[in-house]
Amino acid sequence: MGPVLAVVGRPNVGKSTLVNRIIGRREAVVEDVPGVTRDRISYDAVWNGRTFTVVDTGGWDPDAKGIAERIRAQAEIAVTLADAVLFVVDATIGITDADEAVVRVLRRAGKPVVLAANKVDDARAEAEAFGLWNLGLGEPHVVSALHGRGSGDLLDAVLEAL
Ligand code: GDP
Ligand code: MG
Repeated sequence: MGPVLAVVGRPNVGKSTLVNRIIGRREAVVEDVPGVTRDRISYDAVWNGRTFTVVDTGGWDPDAKGIAERIRAQAEIAVTLADAVLFVVDATIGITDADEAVVRVLRRAGKPVVLAANKVDDARAEAEAFGLWNLGLGEPHVVSALHGRGSGDLLDAVLEAL
């Protein structure tokens, strides 16, 4: 079991792909059809000899009515049960209203937050993550969940937060 890391963020930012990276398996449900992750799924993970639990969240149709509110509510639940939060944003898109709503939940909760700027697939894309400093959540950790780029440094930051 160990400490709990909740992975939150709006649909399609790559949460489940990143969870697969973290657990080193291809188990979390990733689909090109967005919204396939069931509400909350836990996995055991180990990094540098430390064991922790990763909770993947999601499972909504991003086009559904009231989706921003459902993302926010899910983040609220996940944050309550977690020791630290991995907040995933899509660096190629930047911050949306739904992202902002999650940020407000994270600020109120006061739990440690690690910010992952995902879909930075190459060095050229790194500049896109720079604006994420404005979120006030500390360093945006640039990663490519798809290719594994930056995932080691991200996990080091996660262990420090847990
Ligand atoms: P979730 O809804 O946040 O769990 O997102 P998923 O993990 O299901 O990923 C949504 C889509 O984004 C899938 O098509 C993934 O292959 C794609 N994706 C995830 N991570 C990356 C990445 O680092 N780079 C790119 N280019 N695509 C990614
Ligand atoms: Mg998912």
